[in-house]
Amino acid sequence: MLAAKCPGCGYVYDVAAGDEHEGFAAGTAWADIPDDWCCPDCGVREKIDFIPFDPEKVEA
Ligand SMILES: [Zn+2]
Repeated sequence: MLAAKCPGCGYVYDVAAGDEHEGFAAGTAWADIPDDWCCPDCGVREKIDFIPFDPEKVEA
């Protein structure tokens, strides 16, 4: 999985970019994100709620 999207607020975790604010360096695989990690934007949804997201398939 290259990226995952929060179904609540639309936040996208991009594996290639990581999320430095959350302590995940660029390239941190989705599988390496802790299961109890929750969305940094809404704080409501947890990792298990995220849906697979392909950045290259998003239409401009
Ligand atoms: Zn969210």
